[in-house]
Amino acid sequence: MDSFDDTAPLHLETLALRAGQLPTDEGSHGEPIFTTSSYVFESAAQAAARFSGEEPGNIYSRFTNPTVRAFEQRLAAMEGAERCVATSSGMAAILSTAMALLESGDEVISSRSVFGTTNVLFEKYLKRFGVKTTFVSLTDISEWQAAITPKTKLFFMETPSNPLCEVANIPQMAELAHNNGALLVVDNCFCTPALQRPLAMGADIALHSATKFLDGQGRCIGGAVCGRNDLMEEVFGFLRSAGPTMSPFNAWVFLKGLETLSLRMQAHSASALRLADWLEQHGAVEKVFYAGLPSHPQHLLARQQQDAFGGVLSFRVKGGREQAWSVIDNTRFLSITGNLGDAKTTITHPATTTHGRLSDEAKARAGITENLIRVAVGLEHIDDIKADLERGLSKLI
Ligand SMILES: *Cc1c(COP(=O)(O)O)cnc(C)c1O
Repeated sequence: MDSFDDTAPLHLETLALRAGQLPTDEGSHGEPIFTTSSYVFESAAQAAARFSGEEPGNIYSRFTNPTVRAFEQRLAAMEGAERCVATSSGMAAILSTAMALLESGDEVISSRSVFGTTNVLFEKYLKRFGVKTTFVSLTDISEWQAAITPKTKLFFMETPSNPLCEVANIPQMAELAHNNGALLVVDNCFCTPALQRPLAMGADIALHSATKFLDGQGRCIGGAVCGRNDLMEEVFGFLRSAGPTMSPFNAWVFLKGLETLSLRMQAHSASALRLADWLEQHGAVEKVFYAGLPSHPQHLLARQQQDAFGGVLSFRVKGGREQAWSVIDNTRFLSITGNLGDAKTTITHPATTTHGRLSDEAKARAGITENLIRVAVGLEHIDDIKADLERGLSKLI
């Protein structure tokens, strides 16, 4: 007979359903949405105690809302974090982290291959407040080492990266950051905690665009920052003062999204691997970028660090922009959109959309060529997805 240890920590799949419960007087099984801007107190003295922090509890939904808190507790449990702070978007999660932990004169080292808007946030806006960012290769640790100065406070990276699926060694990066008095922040959007838990590998913060796989059905914009209590207290302080808050309705959608996250990530990953294999054999395709392929330079590292390879891949067609656009335009049902992490497969031309604001030089260094197409593989039947791409690809041979 199997023996079970009922004192063992719950598995991630169970936490996704059971952490962050909201008990209600009415016995509702589903989590209620608290659509309220403020909360009433029993007395003036209680109001004073709540505001001073002496008594825990709700005050005002810019920074305390029960539905948002349930989402934060559930995601924190899944990331293995002491605490999570939810934000209005993924960009707000990155901004809040930077505003909470950096000051003028500090320096950031970031991988070059980050989400296009992250690049703009660092290069254009943080720079105005005296924070300098040096962009380096995600996979070449010697470039990170060389970029370190006494002012370096933060390492920022996405692994796997968007759109080329490069993979960084999280434990090695964490060690390098910590040896130099810096924190490691990992944008865990592509894998989610269902496939990769950066905090357990030494990262200080794992952050998210909840808009992507955490929602999983392309409904809401949101974000989250996860990490130690002392760091999250700073992020929470910024959120309370500046207000990039998650709405309770969105928090409720994300709570439901987390419940099926693990199953979805397995399904996205299985189909992406099959699609990558097929594309790699295709005569109209120059190169496929997906860490699940043995030909990928960090395939072995991805196997160690991730439970599967995720739902996003990209590939270069033979030719240039015209050929890439024709593959996109010849699809019948794939969604032409900049979003990813949806149950519906999405197809994107990064050079002219998500990464269109980068300079030509920055694009070239990040590998965003005109013939590159990104596919975020959804939950349709894999044969239908292949057939839809084949409509355009077959015309290129
Ligand atoms: C989409 C995305 C973001 C930004 O998130 P929003 O919710 O759109 O603000 C940040 N990082 C990555 C990797 C993303 O894909």
